[in-house]
Amino acid sequence: MRNSEAVPRAVQIARDAFVSQQSVSETQKGPDALRRLSRAVREHENEIVSALQADFGKPELESLASELSVFYQEVRELKRCLKRFFRPQRRPTPQAFFRSTSTVYREPFGTVLVIAPWNYPFQLSVVPVAGALAAGNSVVLKPSELASNVAGVLEKILHSAFPEGLARVVQGDKQVVQELLSHRFDHIFYTGNSVVGKTIMKSAAEQLTPVTLELGGKNPAVVTAKADMRVAAQRIAWGKAFNAGQTCVAPDYVLVDGAVHDEFVGELRAAFVRMYGEKPLNSADMARIINDRHFNRLKALLDGTQGVIWGGSCDPRTRAISPAVVTDLSWDDQLMKEEIFGPLLPILRYQSRRELVERVNSRSRPLAVYVFSTSNTEARQLFADLPSGGGCINDVVLQVASSSLPFGGVGESGFGRYRGLYSLRAFTYERALVNHRIWPELRLRYPPYEGKLRLMRWLLGS
Ligand code: NAD
Repeated sequence: MRNSEAVPRAVQIARDAFVSQQSVSETQKGPDALRRLSRAVREHENEIVSALQADFGKPELESLASELSVFYQEVRELKRCLKRFFRPQRRPTPQAFFRSTSTVYREPFGTVLVIAPWNYPFQLSVVPVAGALAAGNSVVLKPSELASNVAGVLEKILHSAFPEGLARVVQGDKQVVQELLSHRFDHIFYTGNSVVGKTIMKSAAEQLTPVTLELGGKNPAVVTAKADMRVAAQRIAWGKAFNAGQTCVAPDYVLVDGAVHDEFVGELRAAFVRMYGEKPLNSADMARIINDRHFNRLKALLDGTQGVIWGGSCDPRTRAISPAVVTDLSWDDQLMKEEIFGPLLPILRYQSRRELVERVNSRSRPLAVYVFSTSNTEARQLFADLPSGGGCINDVVLQVASSSLPFGGVGESGFGRYRGLYSLRAFTYERALVNHRIWPELRLRYPPYEGKLRLMRWLLGS
């Protein structure tokens, strides 16, 4: 489905599929959908890996580790959480409703729109889709047009797994998104940049549709004087170069204690060389930049800075950029203005902890914060002082490798949480029910009120 006429049809099919399965119990619906989805993904594994390779040269190991394995782990966690999630919760009942019961039920929203980005084009589509289906919704997915090969495989997978239309894929660009947004959905789940995030939220507000916004930002990695320099450098270098830096939770820049700056920079160069050799541009283990626009944006950032001390060569033919270590820059440098989203790593020195905390907290809240220190007390204190969606101590990115942890941003990096249990919560609402008996009847509530005030006052005090 590639033309805009497909939009109303896809929305209607998904709505009908939700209605037609409303009588199926939640304990059956979710596990059944997850089984069908993971079977279809297994059957298309090779196609997924090839599509990721075709879209931006993603190395096979990175595809298995950060796309397929994240999905399978998510399915296992959702199945585990589903065993209890839909159990009705009995709550205490006020005395005045004597002999009635109070219960909270979890209900799916209905039909959910998932809008996905290109940087982990498989995983960032199917993981929210799996959560929405597990919670009993039907889904319309709009994958990113920038990873068009993966979008095609996603359409194949979802349409073969759910022939009745429980999960529909609509392909296309921003015009298609705008058309989708003119329809009413019961929830919108968007992952992407914050500029578009704002327009999504505005459109959703027109229909009072609840939204989850998974956005980006500039994630700092802090290396204190007490850090293990070799470990810090190795892990930061890995997190920056994985997926060619096109990762929302990648360390965007490093803040290193001035006293250990040179030692850290030396270890960082050594770490890049260990992973990619002296000529990373030729390495088959580095993904490519997604398109010419992003390639030229990153190249302009490199051309505009004097501080590249290692790497940073570019090949426009293959859209490869070798990891670049950039030092001696200031907070006002172009590289420090916006999320880099590529393999360029600026390194800034800090002289005092106070300066570090003030600088970071004066900017938008990041999606992730990373702190490197062998002192657990120091690391935890710094992590507490630097608010973010999540993060790691002595590592990077790993917080998203676990489907038992909530994933999401704060402030400008977005709001709402998902993964595992948090996906089930994100895609359902709590519905309250009082079940009252026919007898006894509390006459106090009915007019005429004359002669009932004393009893009412007594009840207030009791
Ligand atoms: P993108 O260009 O693929 O856009 C995301 C989706 O929005 C696509 O489906 C696209 O068709 C649609 N879109 C694009 N422009 C639009 C417009 N003007 N109107 C309506 N819809 C539009 O991806 P992107 O935004 O470049 O993704 C990268 C950004 O996403 C980075 O900022 C990154 O940090 C963030 N991100 C966040 C997370 C997270 O989980 N928080 C994960 C991945 C990426």
